[in-house]
Amino acid sequence: MKFRSLIIAILLVFSGIHLEAQKVSLERIDPPFWWTSMKNKALQLMVYGENISLSKPQINYPGVHLTEVIAVESPNYLFLNLVIDDTTKAGIFSIDFYKKKKKSVSYDYELKARDKNPNLHQGFDNSDVIYLLMPDRFANSDTTNDNAAGMLDTVDRSNSLGRHGGDIQGISNHLDYLTELGVTAIWSTPLLENNMPKQSYHGYAITDYYKIDPRFGTNDDYKKLVTKAHKKGLKIIMDMVANHCGTGYYWNDDLPSQDWYNQWPEFTRSNYRVAVQSDPNAPQADYDKMVKGWFDHTMADLNQHNKLLAEFLIQNTIWWIEYAEIDGIRQDTYPYSYKDFMAEWMQRILEEYPNFNVVGEVWLDYPPITAYWMDNQTNADGYRSHLTNVFDFPLATAIAQSVNEREGWSTGMMRLYELLSQDFLYSNPLNIVTFSTNHDADRFFSKMNEDYQKFKLGMTFLMTTRGIPQMYYGGEILMTGREHKGHGFIRKDFPGGWPDDTKNAFTSQGRTEEQEEAFGFMRRLLNWRKTSKAVQFGELNQYLPEDGIYVYFRHFEGESVMVILNNISENKEVDLSRFKKDLNGFTKGRSVLSRQSFDSLDKLKVRSKSALVIELVR
Ligand code: CA
Repeated sequence: MKFRSLIIAILLVFSGIHLEAQKVSLERIDPPFWWTSMKNKALQLMVYGENISLSKPQINYPGVHLTEVIAVESPNYLFLNLVIDDTTKAGIFSIDFYKKKKKSVSYDYELKARDKNPNLHQGFDNSDVIYLLMPDRFANSDTTNDNAAGMLDTVDRSNSLGRHGGDIQGISNHLDYLTELGVTAIWSTPLLENNMPKQSYHGYAITDYYKIDPRFGTNDDYKKLVTKAHKKGLKIIMDMVANHCGTGYYWNDDLPSQDWYNQWPEFTRSNYRVAVQSDPNAPQADYDKMVKGWFDHTMADLNQHNKLLAEFLIQNTIWWIEYAEIDGIRQDTYPYSYKDFMAEWMQRILEEYPNFNVVGEVWLDYPPITAYWMDNQTNADGYRSHLTNVFDFPLATAIAQSVNEREGWSTGMMRLYELLSQDFLYSNPLNIVTFSTNHDADRFFSKMNEDYQKFKLGMTFLMTTRGIPQMYYGGEILMTGREHKGHGFIRKDFPGGWPDDTKNAFTSQGRTEEQEEAFGFMRRLLNWRKTSKAVQFGELNQYLPEDGIYVYFRHFEGESVMVILNNISENKEVDLSRFKKDLNGFTKGRSVLSRQSFDSLDKLKVRSKSALVIELVR
């Protein structure tokens, strides 16, 4: 008898474990909803839940076909491949997960109707000036979200690498400041959830690709920001990261399959050598380290050669474009991902949104490498990136060098000239996104050793040469900071963004005399740029610099602008006879910055270390 009870007890325990182990639950489905009438009719759903792979999903909705169910190594995932017919109506259908003919869990999946407004998804272009900001450091307009339930990193404004509390509401509340300044597009560093224990403020260790970080706001807040920005004539560029995710992602402890990440026997960093990706002479080992090495301990390297992950990332991008109605994307660490995947990602975006733009971060100071990544048909290895825009890192370096150094055979203004003389490399030099600094480098005013004349010279060049200019928040009020002291020093809080700030540089009264002067200068330059088709879209004709004087023209449909940069420490009278061809037909001009008029274009005085921007008049 005793023995029998023991057997029964053991059987019960085992069957109990058995039942427990087979309990099916459902935690999430990504993407959480989708749309009808997409050009691409396929949809992959990533289903996550305990033992979900033991269930059999069923969908019963006209025009929605469940064509494939894919189980992976972990029992807690299922991938469902759906096809959505052209005629499928928007609505909600149930995805039912059956186990042994019994429905165990279900999910109400929504197919929304697409917003067919033709003004949406039109991208950014040369008429734009992009304002890069870090949301945690720009403005904290909602102190109730500074900390959020379940988020590991809590607010600590005294820590330069801690969270400071800035949020989407902070951006939303200062759109008028940005339109007054004259920028037309906002690139915010990533806003998606970064539930990492430390340094989560920067946003580049994403832990949920479908969710705005609650310390910044909600998905709905982001969508509302885009709508409000559009009403004010501002575009929104979303920062995305396809190369890596934060190790705080729920995947990390339960990978769908071991090849979801690029795995190494022990932690292996990327060699950060961007050149390797396009190097025809690179050995496999260097390539592997570059592409498969991890960006950081906290940033898991995603293996986009896993087809399920690749589809997840592509759909995630399309989901944000469609959902939030963003105007463009900045893609982080572009050459750190597999380049065939990035090309597919780009093509899929352009298939759905033909006029959309993506600017890729390719951080290396060699124009041939920048050019390699901008879509072209001339790469010797046949690679076509399909990437519409690339940042001009070489030019950013050249701007700081040229304005700071003495004129020489290949120094000073000659640096800018020689750099732009390499524009033949680019499929379209106008599509380059130019900048003087960003969130990873010294503040531009610091690069200029806090010399305001140099600052103005550099910014005038940036805003009048070819490309789509991007500036960095606080540049307009001469914020300073050196990168070598730590990232916190180049990512300081914008003064006035916090309720207890004593100075508010968002207002004229809150700016120092020097800040007010700089803000006024940038406002004049940018607001004029908005009106000048020549400086936005015009062809660039540049003349060889002589004695520190660099002259170039921008021409567009009869509209012309002449720019004279004087990079030496003395005033110069510039004889314009050398520029006859470009001055053809123009006899007068008007200075954009000083508003001074010129009745003759024979000779012009240009003060030391300064610029003349002249709209030419017939
Ligand atoms: Ca806040």
